[in-house]
Amino acid sequence: MRIGIDLDGVIFDSEKEFRVYSELYDTVDLKKNSKLDNKELRFQSRFKWTKEELNGFLNKYHKQIIEESNFMPGVKRVLQMLKQMGHSLILITARGSINKDMIKITEERFKKSGMDIFDKYYWATENKEAVCEKENIDIMIDDYIENCERIANHKIRAIYFKDAPSPDLKENEYIKVLYNWGEIYRYINEIDGTKLM
Ligand SMILES: [Mg+2]
Repeated sequence: MRIGIDLDGVIFDSEKEFRVYSELYDTVDLKKNSKLDNKELRFQSRFKWTKEELNGFLNKYHKQIIEESNFMPGVKRVLQMLKQMGHSLILITARGSINKDMIKITEERFKKSGMDIFDKYYWATENKEAVCEKENIDIMIDDYIENCERIANHKIRAIYFKDAPSPDLKENEYIKVLYNWGEIYRYINEIDGTKLM
C-alpha cells in the first residue's frame, strides 16, 4: 500500500511540546494568562495571542521544540516493519511552512536515527488531500481532524491518530480512529489488500 504519514503529532511528539511551551510562554513571558481552550490540539488555537505574540513564541521556542521533541512510542519500529513488508512510505507534512530551516534540522534528525526511510518527502504542504490524490495514497495517518475529514471527503482512507486532547471524530468507511502505533500496525495489516470502491 501507499501510506501517507504526517510528521508533527504522528512521528514526533512535537505537538505535545508546543502545548507545554506555549503554556510557559503565555504565563511566564507574556504574563497574559490568555488561555481559550485546552481541549484544542494545536497551540495556535489554545490562546488569545496577537500576531506579534505568536511570532515571539516561535522565535523563542520553535527551533528548540523541533530539535528536542521525541519520536512517538513505537513509530521507528513500526515504520521500519511496514517498509520491509514492501509498503511505500510518503511523508506529507506542513512542517517547513512557518520556517523552512526546520526541514534541514528534521532531515538531519532522520538521518542520525536511521529514519531517512521514506520513499518521498512533501514538506510545507498546506493541501494534503491534493498530495494524497496525486500520490495515489491508500491511507493517510494524521492527527489533525480537519486534514482527516478533507482526505476522507476525497474518498481516501484516513487514520485519525488521537493521542492528545483533540476533537472526537465519528468513524466511517474512510475514517478510522486509532491511539498508538501498535494499533496502526494491526489495522494496516487488517485492511492490506482490501480496496474501497
Ligand atoms: Mg500533525
